[in-house]
Amino acid sequence: MEEDVERRIKSISKPETEEVGNIIRIAGPVVQAENLQGAEMYEVVEVGDEGLIGEVIGLERDVATIQVYEETGGLKPGEPVKRTGEPLSAELGPGLIRQIYDGIQRPLEAIKSEAGDFILRGVDVAPLDEDKNWRFVPEVDVGDEVTSGDYLGTVPETKVVDHRVMVPPGVKGTVEEVVSEGEYTIKDTIARIKTSEGVEEIKMRQRWPVRIRRPVGKKKAPGELLITGQRVLDTFFPLAKGGTAAIPGGFGTGKTVIQHQLAKWSDADIVVYVGCGERGNEMTEVLRDFPELEDPRTGEPLMKRTILIANTSNMPVAAREASVYSGITLAEYYRDMGYNVALMADSTSRWAEALREISGRLEEMPGEEGYPAYLASSLAAFYERAGICDLLSGEEGSISVIGAVSPSGGDFSEPVTQNTLRIVQVFWALDVELRNKRHFPAVNWLRSYSLYLDSVKEWWNENVNEKWHQLRKESMRLLEKESELQEIVQLVGPDALPQSDRFALQAARVIREDFLQQNAFHDVDTYCDPEKQFRMIEIMMEFYERGTEVVEKGVPVDKIMEMETFERLSRMSNVPSDKWEERFGHIEMEMNEEFDSLLEEE
Ligand code: ADP
Ligand code: MG
Repeated sequence: MEEDVERRIKSISKPETEEVGNIIRIAGPVVQAENLQGAEMYEVVEVGDEGLIGEVIGLERDVATIQVYEETGGLKPGEPVKRTGEPLSAELGPGLIRQIYDGIQRPLEAIKSEAGDFILRGVDVAPLDEDKNWRFVPEVDVGDEVTSGDYLGTVPETKVVDHRVMVPPGVKGTVEEVVSEGEYTIKDTIARIKTSEGVEEIKMRQRWPVRIRRPVGKKKAPGELLITGQRVLDTFFPLAKGGTAAIPGGFGTGKTVIQHQLAKWSDADIVVYVGCGERGNEMTEVLRDFPELEDPRTGEPLMKRTILIANTSNMPVAAREASVYSGITLAEYYRDMGYNVALMADSTSRWAEALREISGRLEEMPGEEGYPAYLASSLAAFYERAGICDLLSGEEGSISVIGAVSPSGGDFSEPVTQNTLRIVQVFWALDVELRNKRHFPAVNWLRSYSLYLDSVKEWWNENVNEKWHQLRKESMRLLEKESELQEIVQLVGPDALPQSDRFALQAARVIREDFLQQNAFHDVDTYCDPEKQFRMIEIMMEFYERGTEVVEKGVPVDKIMEMETFERLSRMSNVPSDKWEERFGHIEMEMNEEFDSLLEEE
């Protein structure tokens, strides 16, 4: 199916005549027009007197079915429809970073200042500033042989992002001319490449159809941890750079908070955040918070590596459908420069609902729960654009994709969750019960999983500690044991348990409350680096081990419960990054002293 889309998109060509079709029917975001001679599937058209942006999604004889990316209220039959000869495309070039776009890459800030509102129609604002001067530093010489994806030069886009100006896909030849270092706009020609067909003028911007993936070399197996600074994720259910993850959870379970945490703290070079169909105020939060946040690694504002795409619930559904493609296309463009990109989509359920609504308007045969039959393949096509790969330039780049899923009532058996689960490698299952107990992040450790445990093992070994894999396994076993013991406790009460099991419950509680829980709104706790995570779990598991040993020697659990160590363990997460190493050393020592003295008392 995807190849079919690609073939159709590539066959779109400029209209030869200026013939104009006209609207015959309007159904919400879907419009039908007749007499649109030569129109192709996926071609962008201008709809109505206001020239609303639409895309042809159905063709039957001379009737074109069009999804319109803007409000269609007020549109009337008879109004004109014009072809553009172009598929829905993203404009790529310096200036993308720090932008806030809507679903079809219109800059919201610029639109706002142009028209004074977030949502308006028919405005034609360029995605990139065409008059801004950028400092271009060439990296090729006249006579060099270059091909698609090769770097022609660099533009310092922000303090933390060097933008590589690339040979556009499909171009191959000899550099005939290249400008010298200096200031240029995205409209200026910075190089001429002599190809077998003629001479290509290369500018700092290029366009790419959002529904087609950009060409890359070989996909590789992910192996490097995407550091998120969230303990339950990095230590227990790690995501690898270039991997895919889903965060399903009912309303209010913390999907958005996790996505924001990832956008803020993950060690990606570039972050593309797609706010898709969620409430406008959440996006406003992102817009308000992000510009003020500092990247812990570079000390620079986080916006200097971030692109936001906002298509909130009050914006047109068709643009929501497009927003994830716009987002992933921008992600691919930066990946092609050799970066590790992370894309968050919140929420893919709202995106699927847009698919459902449009499909319903088209009177297509509905599949499960009214979603179109192609829901699964659309989801797969989106996640498949993630990955770590060799690039055409010979470098390596990656895209990690993290999608939130919001099943109504938190019921994971519904189609969007189920189809997503078949695709993604990491599953962070959010849980209403944990949320109700105010256990945050409400990631259920018994239902969640990561298929990257073996792939990132080497990373942990080399960068943190070789004991990670083993410790993780043992602490997971302890948590599973806790859940089994809790069932017994519910039946027969805690007194029926042997002392060692009663202690296991206490040790598991420490892991749960002091390790798995993490306060996103605490200055220190919001981010926990992997070394600190490791030391925390190491000391907590040492606590379990030593405690078990002491209990086996006859010390009653009630005595252990009086240990001051409990209090100290509970404060570990809040020890600042420049102090924890020393402080943790003390906690460990004092813990062992407490155990030793319990044994002596015996
Ligand atoms: P969802 O997007 O799943 O509907 P939110 O992400 O908006 O839910 O989270 C709902 C609320 O839960 C937040 O406003 C916050 O109070 C609380 N919460 C979620 N995650 C955390 C966390 N890691 N730390 C502290 N509070 C959290
Ligand atoms: Mg949310």
